[in-house]
Amino acid sequence: MVSEPILRIALSGPLRTLFDYLMPVGMSQLPIIGTRFQVPFGRGGRTGLLIGISDSSELPRERLKRATRQLDDGPLLNEKEMRLLQWAADYYQHPLGDVIFQALPVNLRKTRAISLARPEAWRLSATGRQADIAKLSRAPKQLAVMQTLSVHTDGLLKAELIASSGASDSVLRSLNARGWIERCHLVPSNQSDDNEQHRHPLNPAQQAAVDQVSARLNEFIPFLLNGVTGSGKTEVYLCLIEAVLAQGRQVLVLVPEIGLTPQLMDRFKQRLGHQVALLHSALADGEREAVWHDLRLGNKQVLLGTRSAVFTPMPDLGLVVVDEEHDLSYKQQEGFRYSARDLALVRGQQAGCPVLLGSATPSLESLRNAEEGRYQQLDLPNRVADASLPDMHLIDIRSVPLDGGLSPAMINEIRTALSNKEQVMLFLNRRGYAPMLTCHACGWLTDCPRCDARMTHHRKQNMLWCHHCGHQRRVPQQCPECGSPDLRTIGQGTEQIEERLGNLFPEAPLARIDKDSTSRKGALEKLLEGIHSGAYPLLLGTQMLAKGHHFPDVTLVGILDVDQGLFGADYRASERMAQLILQVSGRAGRAARPGRVLIQTRHPEHPLMQILTRQGYSAFSKEALAERRLALLPPFSHQVLIRAESTKASDPIEFLHRAAAVGKSLNGADQIELWGPVPAPMERRAGRIRAHLLVQSSQRKPLHQWLAQWVPELITLPEARKVRWSIDVDPMEML
Ligand code: ADP
Ligand code: ZN
Ligand code: ZN
Repeated sequence: MVSEPILRIALSGPLRTLFDYLMPVGMSQLPIIGTRFQVPFGRGGRTGLLIGISDSSELPRERLKRATRQLDDGPLLNEKEMRLLQWAADYYQHPLGDVIFQALPVNLRKTRAISLARPEAWRLSATGRQADIAKLSRAPKQLAVMQTLSVHTDGLLKAELIASSGASDSVLRSLNARGWIERCHLVPSNQSDDNEQHRHPLNPAQQAAVDQVSARLNEFIPFLLNGVTGSGKTEVYLCLIEAVLAQGRQVLVLVPEIGLTPQLMDRFKQRLGHQVALLHSALADGEREAVWHDLRLGNKQVLLGTRSAVFTPMPDLGLVVVDEEHDLSYKQQEGFRYSARDLALVRGQQAGCPVLLGSATPSLESLRNAEEGRYQQLDLPNRVADASLPDMHLIDIRSVPLDGGLSPAMINEIRTALSNKEQVMLFLNRRGYAPMLTCHACGWLTDCPRCDARMTHHRKQNMLWCHHCGHQRRVPQQCPECGSPDLRTIGQGTEQIEERLGNLFPEAPLARIDKDSTSRKGALEKLLEGIHSGAYPLLLGTQMLAKGHHFPDVTLVGILDVDQGLFGADYRASERMAQLILQVSGRAGRAARPGRVLIQTRHPEHPLMQILTRQGYSAFSKEALAERRLALLPPFSHQVLIRAESTKASDPIEFLHRAAAVGKSLNGADQIELWGPVPAPMERRAGRIRAHLLVQSSQRKPLHQWLAQWVPELITLPEARKVRWSIDVDPMEML
């Protein structure tokens, strides 16, 4: 007797093993891999996804439970999509079930059955188009159907047809039996709502980039589009997208934070019309699910979305674009710590299509890949339409009296620009009123009781607020230590600069853009609209203002404080600083009037600062890469960071010591370096003590082979149970 097949199922949640179940009662046909099941688990039920079918299990057969039921009428993910997720689970050493369920829209993680079939649609048949519908005068429902379909010549979804004609299933059946109507697939039409004024003839550099990619549309090949801010990268994307759509294939476009740039969404919609679907954090769960199905079924051809959009099934993928590829938001920083940029490359490889990474400030990783010939580099060295790149100047603030964080030189420049009716943008990457409050009598500081950090003073709310753990308290009237009422702020945040600028330039309305000023729904859109309509001569913001925006009237950009980037604990700090300065600067002088950038610094002679401002990003990145090469840091080596935390101080370090000892005994350990364990840069956060162990290797392959042995060992360590721990492959932040 052939034994009953066993379903190997991945469950949602951080479970590292697969679970075996017998087929549900009454099920006779073998289900297809990628199908969801409801299964009993613990005292309740869970949703799981079928990964494999086997004829044996490690458990004795009588201990296996039956799956409760198959949820959907078919597989949710096909083989190709499963391969990507399996790849990601292996590469990031993250449980497959959690990878799968994070890749699905929230609605599909729940135990709710859906139908995966293409929605039914109807159209007139050839006979139907000739039919004399006057004969139907005594069948008004049938008449209504025929009339409705004669308007919708491409066909109509059954649900819409029924809604507009009032007909029922049986009416459709009888018209079908007569041969007048037939089922059809709705094919999205290729018309866009383009209006020609949004189209520019490409300049030679843009044309060369488009030509090079278009020549290779049917193979996997990574391109790095290195184009200065305002060089027309988006225009290049759009032209290539049109070329791919003309082949009847789909395009995935990843962007860092879509909500910040409604302009970009509008541009895509204008050019590509209803073929575009958008996936971003402001969508409700139902809307996200609808987008997922639209792409899976090919009802939409282009997906413009943030990080998690990289998992959306797209059966005819013909091009992947990653805009601002250097952006940190592509890396998920908790749970399943994947890089959407890197997975985009894997997707392109699996789909056999080009992947275009674009940036004005490419990551050192990508520049190195281009240098080594793994990526084809395409350059857009100039801004479009004769706009020039802004001049950069450093303002030495070492012995200068600052007025609320602003140097006299900066204030003068702002005054001149405003009197010339130019728009000014100021950048400070710190929100709130001041990063800390101190007692002038005894030196007390606003330490967070739960973190090794200070609580930020938010004056409008009269609160002290820890930006690391969210802890809040009212601003005390007097010093909690000595009772002195003389409490003073140290340093500045955007809230304070806004106040100061209001006093200095009362006639110039200011738009402040940071997390606090835009927390209400619609607030950001309103501010951006005001900026574009010229209502705000002064713009002030954090990095929310730095990315992607096109503010054609800004001529002066003032960067108030970037010095922490020069000496950060993280070796990536200077790369980040350079990218931020260049991106912020990129907002200046994008149109006819040339731009100026002023950077306040206490380290004007710092070599990196000098190179960046005098010679630009590519000189800077060469220098930074040379430093990394000497220090054998990524991209000249590969890293994995393991983090552990616990409320008990000694537990994390003990676990990591144990982990290191185990690691050293494994095969291939001679190719691996272990650094630590060491306390995390912020050792205490949200009441937990945190420690790190850094793993490094000059070769990717031995690192991953070793990692695949190590992680299963770690899970079994008794010390692991006392801490929260996580693995971060290719960590982007050492926090
Ligand atoms: P980037 O993405 O590199 O910052 P964009 O594609 O947003 O640049 O282009 C900046 C501005 O220049 C946009 O307003 C765009 O419409 C316009 N533009 C793009 N290409 C051209 C071109 N070839 N000629 C004229 N204007 C262009
Ligand atoms: Zn005091
Ligand atoms: Zn805190």
